[in-house]
Formats: sequence, structure tokens, C-alpha cells
Amino acid sequence: MHNCWIEYDHTSDFSLYNLPYGVFRYDGRYGVGVAIGDQVIDMTAVAHIEQFQQELKIPAEVFARPVLNDYIAQGPAKHREVRKYLTRELTDVQSYLRDHQVLLSQSDVEMVLPVRVPNYTDFYSSRDHATNVGKMFRDPENALLPNWLHMPVAYHGRASSIVVSGTDLHRPCGQQMPKDAETPVYGPCRLLDFELEMAFIIGKANELGRPISTADADDHIFGLVLFNDWSARDIQKWEYVPLGPFLGKNWGSSVSPWVVPLDAIEKFRVPGPAQSPEVLPYLKYEGDRHYDISLEVAIQPDDMDETTIVRSNYRHLYWNMAQQLAHHTINGCNMQIGDMLASGTISGPTESSFGSMLELSWAGKKDVELVGGQKRKFIHDGDRVIMRAFAQNNDCRVGFGEVRTKILPSHKTKS
Ligand code: CA
Repeated sequence: MHNCWIEYDHTSDFSLYNLPYGVFRYDGRYGVGVAIGDQVIDMTAVAHIEQFQQELKIPAEVFARPVLNDYIAQGPAKHREVRKYLTRELTDVQSYLRDHQVLLSQSDVEMVLPVRVPNYTDFYSSRDHATNVGKMFRDPENALLPNWLHMPVAYHGRASSIVVSGTDLHRPCGQQMPKDAETPVYGPCRLLDFELEMAFIIGKANELGRPISTADADDHIFGLVLFNDWSARDIQKWEYVPLGPFLGKNWGSSVSPWVVPLDAIEKFRVPGPAQSPEVLPYLKYEGDRHYDISLEVAIQPDDMDETTIVRSNYRHLYWNMAQQLAHHTINGCNMQIGDMLASGTISGPTESSFGSMLELSWAGKKDVELVGGQKRKFIHDGDRVIMRAFAQNNDCRVGFGEVRTKILPSHKTKS
């Protein structure tokens, strides 16, 4: 156990073992920050310390950008050096950092979307989630489609509507086909849902035409965030055959502001599920490539306390990040720095671990009870949906903070 000269509570998500990156706005400027306890290390200030410049040789302006992309482009070896530098300096009571103004309080800064996201892909990698959806909408006996156990199924989402925690979203309007109706109607979505996901951010590009192997995958991953893939179920249900999700999904996805590096969760690696039938050679992998990360979802209606309604775990995924990345690039598709690849809804085997209202209410057939007596089948206007994630053992805690979003009423449209 290291001693850090910045004091933080043992329950803090942002321990010395974490050192996640984000971008803050403070006093009219942007800066790359690293969270520790309830503070932010202002890397724009660190970048001007002579000792840092001599050791790391990273241009100071890289840390003064409104996104992490230029810092990410420095490459995984540089990120490791910065992590090593910060760990060393934060445990050295005589650190140079103490002579400079490098700390800001998290309560004084505004966190912004940490990366410019060129492309967003959403996988569908939880077997329990895919099975639940298959049972509800297709065939209870053959819930999984024939391809599901052979490849990490995914679709290309829309990057422009990815927003940071704290950004309110309006209930979308769109076409729906009500049950027993003959023609579709237009109006506000009535089956508004969240999807509990994690997303990884690409840290190193690959050339068009050159796949990334499962063995090389980690080198291409900068870190992870919590990801709420908002879904308008009624719009989705009517539109998605035959080309897949569109307007039911692209009106908003919310992410947590702190990007947790893969190195920070290294000690939380766990074995994945046995994969049967045997996967094709390009999807085979060595070692433990899943991670034990606890996940929670809470709902907080206006003027009410929050209720935790889901407790799941990232380890429940059938397909891991290395397999997702290998599959995504097996045809030569090129990844770009900042691309977000989301996991798909992470449901576990028990009802309390289902990662969407669709599953919790079993397509609207039952109520989810909230403290104070309210009930929900789907999300109401004024509700805040809060997702949290953390990895923890006896020695340390590495948390992701939270992604928190309030749903506002639909905008009125001119007809
Ligand atoms: Ca999704």
C-alpha cells in the first residue's frame, strides 16, 4: 500500500491506483486533468514543471486542449511513463508537485466530454441480455439468433449525440406502431429506457486493411468509461427490421467524464465464460481478458431519494474487449483514436442484475418499485438515471465515478 500525500477517503473511486483522465473547464479554459480523491491534478500546470518536461518530453499544449485525443496520440508507452511519474510524485513527500499550484477541487471545475468521438460502435455481448430480449420478442425456445455464439454482434451507432454526465436529454418523438393499430402514429416515446454498458476508447489506430489480433488488442485500448445507451423502445421496435437500430438509439448516449486506463484495472482481470461452440481462430485469446467491475443503476425522480434498481458486473459479458476489437477489424476496418466501442447492455443471470427497464419490467408486464412508493415500467420525465461502476479488493478501489442524466419532456414540434 502506497502513501499518497494527497488525502482521500478509502471509499473514494479515485485512489492512487486509478489515476483516470478527464477534461475540465475552469476559469474559461480547458485542461487535461487526472482525478485523485475529490481533487483534480491540473496537467496543464504539471506540464510546465521543468522536471516533468525533461523526463516526459510531451509538448505542454497537448494538455491544454478541450479533448484528450492529442494526449492519447502520444501512445501507450508515453501514457505508462506519465502514470509512473504521477504515482512516484504522489507518494514522494518532497515532490516538486507540492511547490506548484497543480490541484483543483473537483467541485470547482466542470467536466466535459473527454474525447472527440470519431466513431461509435455498440456491441451486444451479454448472453443474458440477448437471451432475455430474444425470449420477449422472438422465440422463448430459441432466444439466441444463430450467429450470436459465433461472433460479437454489433451495429454502428451515431457519435454526434454522445454527451457527458450531467447533460439533460429531451424525451424523443418519433413513429410508433401501437399494438393492434393499422397505421403508425407520431408522438413522444412512451417506452423510454436506459442500457447499462461500459465503453472502451481506442488509443491507437490501425491502418485500413490491417486487422488487430486479440493478442495486440490491449495496446489499442486507452481506457474505459461508463456508458448509458439510451433507447426509445417503441420507436426501435417499429423501425429496426431489416436494417437495425436508428432513431430509437441515436438521440443520446451518456458517458462518465473520467477515462479509467486499462492499467488501473489490471489486477481485476478474471477468466471469462467457457465459449461453446468453439470460436473461429481469430476470436481465440490467451489469458484472463474479462474484468471484475461492479455496476449499479439508480433512479431518482424529482424531489425524491434515489433507488438502486440494478446490480450487475462487467464480468458477465460473453465476448471480451479483445474479441470485440479483433472481430471489428477482421475485415480491415480502421479504428481511430477516440472511437468508442460500447459493450451492449450488461445483464447478469439474476433478475436484479438485468441492465435495462425492458428486462426489469419484462416488456412492461411488471413494476419496478422505488423508495417512497413510486413505481416504474419505463423512465418518466424528471427522472435522473445514475450509473456507477467500481472494482474493489482488500487493498484498493478503482472507481469510474458516475454517469447521471435527467430526462426532460419532449420539445414541441411544429406540425
Ligand atoms: Ca446498446
